[in-house]
Formats: sequence, structure tokens, C-alpha cells
Amino acid sequence: MTKSDDVQLDGVRDRLLRQRSELIVRAGRVEGDLRHSSDPLVADAPDQAAQIQNDDVLRKIDDAAAAEIAAIDLALERLKHGRYGICSVCHVPIDPQRLLAVPYAVTCVPCSQARNSPR
Ligand SMILES: [Zn+2]
Repeated sequence: MTKSDDVQLDGVRDRLLRQRSELIVRAGRVEGDLRHSSDPLVADAPDQAAQIQNDDVLRKIDDAAAAEIAAIDLALERLKHGRYGICSVCHVPIDPQRLLAVPYAVTCVPCSQARNSPR
């Protein structure tokens, strides 16, 4: 890889770290909502069902945020070892366009598609 090909790794690290802290803030907020710290579940309230349904939505957001944080951690780890932007499966450089869209991607497009497609 020549110098001009280097993705601005410092910029990527900043972006990942910022994204990570935003997710943690968001996840923390969701967890606060789940505990009903500001909005206790009222027994016999007609909107209790709606409130529970809302919890399901919140839990899904929480899972998505947790998965994203884990992916960012993995990307940061790879960045530290100089393997950022290299596919973790086939070891070819990941398309820079993909890294711009998904900075925490650790697999190239064909590998991620192969992994996500059911067998
Ligand atoms: Zn690959």
C-alpha cells in the first residue's frame, strides 16, 4: 500500500470513537427509559399495553446499538494492529467506498454478503 492510498486512519479513529460515544449515550438513554426512571409503569392504566410494546421497540434499539458498539470496538482493535480496511475473511483491501459508508466494516462486500446469505 502506498502512502497516497492510506485512508486517513487518524480521521477514521476519531470518527469511530465519536460514533461509539454517541451510541453509548443513546444506549444509556434507552436503558433509562426501560427502567421507567422518569415514567413509572402504572398498574391498571389503559396505556400499559402500549407502554410494554414501546419497551420492545426500545430493547431492539438497544440490541442494535450494542451490536454496533461491538463492531466499532472490533474495527478499533484492527486499526491498532494495522489491519484496518483489510477484509477479516479473505484479507483483500476493503473497497474505500464501503469504509466511507460503514467505517467499522471488517469484511469486504462479497464476504459480508456470503456471510449474511442463508445456506
Ligand atoms: Zn473478503
